Amino acid sequence: MVRCPICRAKSYKKFTKTNIFGKYHFYKCKKCNLLFVGNLPTKKNLSIFYSKYFSLPKNQNLKNLKKFSFVFDKINISTERCSKLKFLDIGSGNGEIASFLLNKNIGKIVCVDFSEDLLKIKKKIKSKKLKIIIGDFLNIENKLKDNYFDIVTLFDVVEHLVNPKIYLSLAIKKLKSRGKLIITTPNINSLNYLIYKKYWDWISPPWHLFYFSPDSISYLMRKLGMYKIQIYSFYGDWEESLIFSLIKLPFEIIKYSLKILILYFLNNYIFSLSEKKVKKLNISTKTYSIDKFYSSIQKMLKKIDRLFYSELTYPHLLVICEKK
Ligand SMILES: [Zn+2]
Repeated sequence: MVRCPICRAKSYKKFTKTNIFGKYHFYKCKKCNLLFVGNLPTKKNLSIFYSKYFSLPKNQNLKNLKKFSFVFDKINISTERCSKLKFLDIGSGNGEIASFLLNKNIGKIVCVDFSEDLLKIKKKIKSKKLKIIIGDFLNIENKLKDNYFDIVTLFDVVEHLVNPKIYLSLAIKKLKSRGKLIITTPNINSLNYLIYKKYWDWISPPWHLFYFSPDSISYLMRKLGMYKIQIYSFYGDWEESLIFSLIKLPFEIIKYSLKILILYFLNNYIFSLSEKKVKKLNISTKTYSIDKFYSSIQKMLKKIDRLFYSELTYPHLLVICEKK
């Protein structure tokens, strides 16, 4: 019997999504709206996926800057207080958050990521305020002091985790009392998901395994003892306007069906992935390069979007809460 890992409810809607990495069973909780993968990849398989097939999109830097600015505006810290704050960023990618925050003159930042991409920031920034740790947070968390940080940030991390509850409880342990936890993640209550459903780009296992709604993430935060929970939704990384999505949808459905058909014929070679087979496949991960023209069209169309979006239906969620 599958139960919602967040609210423990037993009623859900089911669907599957197949890609080159396998067939994934999705469950959408009818109570808290969490969407989750039932057949989670093993730890071993996941580390192969990440080491072989995962890379950050090329235009991610620009998107991140926008995201950080949005988040920083919401937490509203005076310049004077900033210099006294100690940040811990988990899942820092290539560490741009460090340069963003050090520009704001924060007191200290520790960045953690399992990817060696993080080392790039060390070459760019020479500051005693910056500390870098390479490794899985779950394995290295004992190197970090408990009840020490003023702010812990996880930008687009929770959707990637096999067990967000345990991971987040350890992240919270690092916060001092009244310290703030900041999370961004895709919004499953967004209009974008409503349009695309399983054809949404962000429904992308094995990278994304948990998809939160405002209800499910605040339920989880309360359960982990957090309070003063504020939830916002915003465009975040998402560049596409709603009108464009509606036009694109039929093509996405056709594209997906064709992929399934091809996979069906290749069944004997690559379906039901074993680790050996994963190693053999040599597919490069999709990277997008934004075309300026595309961006400006989307920007224009997004102005119309505002008529349709409500406060909590933008594609990205921002959660800010405090430790008691
Ligand atoms: Zn639930």
